[in-house]
Amino acid sequence: MICESPVTLGEPLKGSFSGFYSCPVKRKFQIIFLYCATCRKKGDDAIVLCADCPDCLDDTIKFVALGPHDKAYWG
Ligand SMILES: [Zn+2]
Repeated sequence: MICESPVTLGEPLKGSFSGFYSCPVKRKFQIIFLYCATCRKKGDDAIVLCADCPDCLDDTIKFVALGPHDKAYWG
């Protein structure tokens, strides 16, 4: 589902996680992912640590975290 409509399903994160998206899964869990079309448009590759962005297609999706709602964020 995320692969088909990442921007629609994902909620853009802010602050230090700008460029990342989160998508709730069954209420308790969420997936954190990057969408290269967005991280390039924002020009914040340095922030989102999308190191190999130039080698990825625009519609590349990178899943970076999965976990319970309050623990999926790093700290
Ligand atoms: Zn990227």
